[in-house]
Amino acid sequence: MTATTASSSSTAATGRSWTCPFCPLSCDGFSVEAAPRPTLVGSDCPRAAAALSHFAAGPSSATARIDGRPADHQGAVAAAAAILAASRQPLFAGLATDVAGMRALYRLANGCGAILDHANGDALMHSTRALQDRGVFYTTLAEIRNRADLVVCLGTNATDHYPEFFRRTAPAVDAPERHVVFVGARVAASASGLGACTTEEIGLAGDVFDTAALLAARLAGRRLAGSDPAIEALVARMLTARYTVVVWESASLPAHGALVAETIQRIVNTLNRTTRAAAFCLGGGDGGYTANQVTTWLSGLPLRTGVHRRGLVHEPQRYATAQLLAGRTVDALLWVSAFSPELAPPATDLPLVVLGHPGLETAATRPNTVFIPVSTPGIGSAGHLFRADGGIVLPLAPIYEDTLPGVAEVAADIAAALSVVSSEGGAR
Ligand code: SF4
Repeated sequence: MTATTASSSSTAATGRSWTCPFCPLSCDGFSVEAAPRPTLVGSDCPRAAAALSHFAAGPSSATARIDGRPADHQGAVAAAAAILAASRQPLFAGLATDVAGMRALYRLANGCGAILDHANGDALMHSTRALQDRGVFYTTLAEIRNRADLVVCLGTNATDHYPEFFRRTAPAVDAPERHVVFVGARVAASASGLGACTTEEIGLAGDVFDTAALLAARLAGRRLAGSDPAIEALVARMLTARYTVVVWESASLPAHGALVAETIQRIVNTLNRTTRAAAFCLGGGDGGYTANQVTTWLSGLPLRTGVHRRGLVHEPQRYATAQLLAGRTVDALLWVSAFSPELAPPATDLPLVVLGHPGLETAATRPNTVFIPVSTPGIGSAGHLFRADGGIVLPLAPIYEDTLPGVAEVAADIAAALSVVSSEGGAR
């Protein structure tokens, strides 16, 4: 797996260029003001504004907690290690962290045989399984900007959840004229970046899967009785476009969305026999792409893999967090949520360790819980995240220097404490 690092400052970002860590578009063309509260400058992105509202102008004074009572860092680390040491099958979930955090969590998982799943694991698996089963043609933000003359947004208007998508992919000065078709979605009134494009809205032919399957069949030349004229017109447009990009959103798909993802790839494959086409998946938020990429490069397998003592086991359905908790397949949960207090751990009575945003301190107050507040990459500390288009890694510059440790530091501390417990003949 290759990765390129985009250029950007890695020093404190106040009042100058800043890379936003709050969705996988990783916008790096705006700046941020730290005071009186962190504010994005140059964009009114509601997703970034909502995320920044959870931070003050300076570091948090949150402290670690054991069973809801304040504890020092070393005590909390020892308590977390004790929970993992006593567990026969721990689950590391949430995994909303950056590259360094995920690398350290993977090492910790090796030390205790944990299963790894992300908070957005269901959506991540749609694209991951399509990649595993059939291979994929994905494109980049820059390629869309420079080459796409037809963008088909299938079942999404892109901007509801990725507000800067069209501005990030707006046609370059010398790019071909672009037509954007929203299939089963309404163009958002607030969407910016569409000014140089013509747009069109058409309905789904059934649901998203029916529509993708119909497009795939018609593009492959199959005749179908009673086909929708709007779909027929779209097929004709795709066949004559020089570069079609099919945009889809993994979290908007139903269960078994991998079937839709694979059908979109069939559409792209068919078009590439005579012209040029690619897909672009909107997904991987809360560090999901980063967690998946890091796990894959370290283990050779994506998330929903158990780093068991008997070897690696990848179970894209069985190792879903909700299923593991409901079936009591795991007996301890380590939840990581460094970007937002809104990504709280699922309800469970299992022993619980939370490495989280300071606002999550009330998420672990019952007996047998440990909460350790962590710094947010791009806010209180530097870091790196993978962007939505796969191999691009963006450096994150902090707004202020945090007093809280990062996920990587805490995971390394727990791993060290766990190895002491193990060498002393603890519960494992
Ligand atoms: S679109 Fe995403 S990366 Fe860009 S500013 Fe908004 S939340 Fe941040």
